[in-house]
Amino acid sequence: MQEDGAVERLAAHAAELISDKTQGSGCEDSKADEHENAVEAGRENALGTDRARARAFVFTEGPGWAALDGRLVAALEKEGISCDVHFQGGHEYPSFEKNAALAADGRARQAGVIIGAGGGRAIDGSKMLADTLRKKLLLAPTSAAQCAAFAPLAAVYKRNGARDGNIFIKIPILGTYVDMRVMREAPPRLLAAGITDALTKLVEPYSAVMYGGKATARWDATIALAAQNVRILLDKSEAALKGGEEALSDAVYAAICLTGLLSSHGSGRPGPSLAHNINEAAHDLYTDAPRPFLHGEIVGVGVLLNAYACDVPGLPPDMLRAFMADVLHTPTTWAELGYGTSEYDFERLYEFILPKHMPLPAEQADRVREALRKVWR
Ligand SMILES: [Zn+2]
Repeated sequence: MQEDGAVERLAAHAAELISDKTQGSGCEDSKADEHENAVEAGRENALGTDRARARAFVFTEGPGWAALDGRLVAALEKEGISCDVHFQGGHEYPSFEKNAALAADGRARQAGVIIGAGGGRAIDGSKMLADTLRKKLLLAPTSAAQCAAFAPLAAVYKRNGARDGNIFIKIPILGTYVDMRVMREAPPRLLAAGITDALTKLVEPYSAVMYGGKATARWDATIALAAQNVRILLDKSEAALKGGEEALSDAVYAAICLTGLLSSHGSGRPGPSLAHNINEAAHDLYTDAPRPFLHGEIVGVGVLLNAYACDVPGLPPDMLRAFMADVLHTPTTWAELGYGTSEYDFERLYEFILPKHMPLPAEQADRVREALRKVWR
């Protein structure tokens, strides 16, 4: 849900979930053989007291928590729920290692509900944790620079921030609460980064076309929804970023909800994720470089590269570049991101962004190379 009092509605939902004894905390009916921790936690929870149940475990991060301005704690307290708060560090990414450590934390294991509150990384971390412990899960995204709150998969990262894979969670997300008061007060930069990330869902499936292959019903449906999502964002972004109420509501819906649906749906076609590979390269090839840019801002350069490399209906690259530069104010070149721009860097990046296991036809490979030149400086 998306409204001004969403945080308070989440707290009321948490109270309902905790008092729903028929399903306990979600641990008792765990079937997760592969998650040893879950089984153990289930046993522990079945012995838990009512007092232990009336606790929420909140997985959050600094700016996201600050944006909630004490409202979540106050609303939970009003419902008779006290909470234990776990803060993910500013440079931390959700990883298997961290999740295992947190799953052993008694506070998480005793909680009647897990609440993910914050940006994409905190939301993904909370999804992994709730999945491991088979807990009931509610989400309160505080930034539009994510689609995690509406996707049943969690992105898992290595220590350097490069992607380590995805896990599809086996528990349902029982509610996602987007508080528009929080969204209105958020820095516009977050929404802009959410918008560039949303654009990947249209351009990346088109890079699959370079490899040929037959379109499937799933692919066609994904493209149609992604195209609609892009139309909303091209139409509403300028007004939304200037604070227009209705436009903001629509842009937030597109960036968080529709994009989340697209993330979980996938394109159903094999191919390189050209736009996201730019982000992977930034983390994998430049491990120690400073990282002043958000995921969506880095990926945005990849979106433009992808648009130059393939023909994406409704998104001609020159129009896209102008939209990013003039409306979103996000970087449009690799040089702006501050990584190396020597010829050596160019070749290394070019090698990196094309999948090794699927050689691209020579003509297409040349087009990707030309496209990379266009977003180089
Ligand atoms: Zn992304």
